[in-house]
Amino acid sequence: MFKNAARPKAYLIIWLMLHKKLPTTDRLTKWGMVVSKRCVMCQNEEETIEHLVINCHFAIRLWSRLLKWVHQLDMLPTNWEQFMHWSIQHAKGKTISAHIFKIIMAECVYEIWIERNNRIFVQKSRTVESVAKEIAYVSIIRSQPSILDEYTF
Ligand SMILES: [Zn+2]
Repeated sequence: MFKNAARPKAYLIIWLMLHKKLPTTDRLTKWGMVVSKRCVMCQNEEETIEHLVINCHFAIRLWSRLLKWVHQLDMLPTNWEQFMHWSIQHAKGKTISAHIFKIIMAECVYEIWIERNNRIFVQKSRTVESVAKEIAYVSIIRSQPSILDEYTF
């Protein structure tokens, strides 16, 4: 579904995410690895893929910022089933809004994962606004010129 819209590296991450195969700390501890279970993005909850991408404050603020940008801000999903339904609904069809949604969706998941890894492994962090800007730039670059007129970040 996201293959043509997303960059290959973002497509790989979203594929792993949708199949719940990203090595989040809840999975690592199940494999017997000793790691902190706490989400590095908010320091509040246990890190699961559902938390990281859907319920974490960082993710909620990032989704809100980007969806407001493309005028698609409706109720954000709050659990895995809603998230799957929501993404399929918005990515359906060949409209400009479906196209931009697919790019944002894949890039958003990708950047959340990269941001999470940077915070864990190199102790570097960015703000929601700066991650949102990077996603917006990539989304614009990957869109047809006609889309540029519709969205300014
Ligand atoms: Zn969190």
